[in-house]
Parts: sequence; structure tokens; C-alpha cells
Amino acid sequence: MSTEKISANEIKAKNRQNIYHYIRERGSVSKQEIVVDMQLSLPTVTSNLDYLKKQGLIDTSGKIRNTGGRSATAFSYIKDARMAIGVDITANHITAVAVNLSGDIASMERRRIPFNLEDDAYLREIGKVVEWVKTEAEIADENLLGVGISVQGLVSDDGEYIEYGKALDFTKRRREEIAAYVPYRNRLIHDSYAAGYRETWTERNFQNAFYISLSNSVGGSVIIDDAIYEGNTHKGGEIGHMEAVSEGGGLCYCGRRGCFDTVCRAGKLAGYTDGSLEEFFRVLEQGDETAKKLWDEYLEHLARAIHNIRMLFDGMVILGGYVGAHMGKYLDDICRRVDEKNPFGDRAQDYLVECRYKVEASAAGAALFYIDEFLDLSC
Ligand SMILES: [Zn+2]
Repeated sequence: MSTEKISANEIKAKNRQNIYHYIRERGSVSKQEIVVDMQLSLPTVTSNLDYLKKQGLIDTSGKIRNTGGRSATAFSYIKDARMAIGVDITANHITAVAVNLSGDIASMERRRIPFNLEDDAYLREIGKVVEWVKTEAEIADENLLGVGISVQGLVSDDGEYIEYGKALDFTKRRREEIAAYVPYRNRLIHDSYAAGYRETWTERNFQNAFYISLSNSVGGSVIIDDAIYEGNTHKGGEIGHMEAVSEGGGLCYCGRRGCFDTVCRAGKLAGYTDGSLEEFFRVLEQGDETAKKLWDEYLEHLARAIHNIRMLFDGMVILGGYVGAHMGKYLDDICRRVDEKNPFGDRAQDYLVECRYKVEASAAGAALFYIDEFLDLSC
């Protein structure tokens, strides 16, 4: 008896969800179109549309003009009906964004402040930045789905604590400490997964991709059939600790030598120009010999990694992070280096792309966790 009841409820929920997604995909439809296209009865469609309207998820103020006949009510998707916030905390910045149901950024704030979980003022600042984007995007409490907090480390399954956080030395720290001043639903999310997911969320045709995050540390994420592949122990895509230099390599923050992180983190370049990556690319453009040499070595290591990734996954490769955001004009150079290694004649220009989202990728990806949760369970 009880199983029958559950399945009837499930069907009801599924119908509602399907109707909502149908409207979301098309933007605006008539009731008749839903009935015909989805092969549902008129009473079922009517009651679900009433429900969606009551939830504030669809708008009925518009009209759809029928040829010849009278115009029908248009049921339109409201992309700002719910929003989620994402915060990315890194060594020197807190970045927050508010994201709507279409993945558009409604507001953004980035503040320079050194990471320090021992400092109450720092924790308060996280809360303040969240409030700032919430106010700016005019999100009512009841329409805020949650706050995803992107962190530079491996995160437990439930988003409650840092499993491995050597880059910022915060292993085992817990969500409730970090989010002490965030009075909304929240969870922790691994930053490379968040950034990779952001790139594929709005670009669904990637299907299979590997996202390389080239920032203060190097991370990555594997995307298979548009979903993040985490591996068996949430370490899938940890390209930063792939062995890149077999002997005499530099010391990695993980304690080992020769990791890919030691040759391709942003500091490898920015270290030459007092920590400024912008300045590095400026002097590189001016033909500075040392910068040219550093860049050449950097690209060689990166090209090898891209080649290996392509051999393993045969998917798109997305160059992200601080360095990825500067890659545009150097893409031809790196494609040429990668192509020299490819035995199948694949052209890197067909599968290697620079990231579309720059500094806000991880924050936005963390917010998408709650957007997806809502769309999956919606209504
Ligand atoms: Zn390492």
C-alpha cells in the first residue's frame, strides 16, 4: 500500500518538475502547448501551473497571440524567482556572487583580505560580503536557496569539513567555523570542482572535459557527461600533484617534490614581477628575456599536461584560473606545442579552450550547487 502511495506522489512531483522545466527551456508557453507536447490532462496541467504561480516561479501577465484565434495566457519562466550565493575564499581575497536560476550573475563583490580563520574580523568579513551581494541582488530571505562556499581544498561528501587543505593550512576545519557569520543554509565546495562546473553548466555541449585551474595553486576537475567526476575519494582531477619533474623538482606545498603545481602555479610567473601576474604579462609583451624564458618553460610543462589529459580522456580541455584568464593570445602557441605530441593528428584548436569565467568562476560554481539542487527537486 505505502509503496503505491509513494509512487503516486512521485509521479505528481515528476509532472510538476517536467512542466516547470518545459516552461524554463522555452521561456514562455501557452497551456495548450503544455497539454499537447507533454501529453498530460488539462486538469493536471492547470493544477500544476496554479502551484508554480503560487510559488512565484512563473508569470502569467503576458499573452501569446494565436493566429486567427484569441490570444492565450502566456506562462513564462521567471529566472530571478530564486537565487543562490557563492563565496570563494582564497589566500588574499573573498569573492562572492549572487546567481539566478539561469546561472546569470546578479551581483558580485571581491575584496582583498588575507585568509585567517583565527581572526574574527575575517570571519565577519565573509558574512558581510554575502550580505552585500544579497542586498545588491535584492534577494528576499525566502528566495535565497543557499550559500555555497568554495574553498581551496578537498571537502567531505556532506560539505561539512575540509578533508585536505594544505594550500591554506586548514585541514579538518569545519563549515560552521568558516560560515560563523553566514546565517543561511550553506556548505563547503572544492574550488576546482566549482570552477570546472561553472564552465560546463552554461556550455552543456562540452559533455566531457577537463578543467585545469592555474591559480596560486594548481587544481583540476574531470567532467564526464556534464557532471563532476569526483573519483572514489574526492580526489579526482587533482592534477596539481601529478608528477611533472622526476628528479630535482621544486618543493610542493604537499611536501613532495616535482609536482605539477610547482611548475605551473601562477606564482611561477608572478614571482618574477613582485607577485603581479598582470605585470608579468606586460613585461612579457615588451619582450623581457627572463619573462620569455619563464613563459617558455611554463608552456612546455602545461603542453605536456594537456597532451596527457587528452590521451586519458579524449575530451575538451579548459584552461582556467588566474593564468587561464590570460591565455587568449597565447593559445595558438600552446596548441602548436600540444599538437607536436599528438599521435592521432587531433588538432588542439578543436578541443583546447580558455575559460569563459575569470575571477568569479569558483564562487559562481559554488552557487550553482544550490541552483541545481533546486532545479532537480524543484517545486
Ligand atoms: Zn604536491
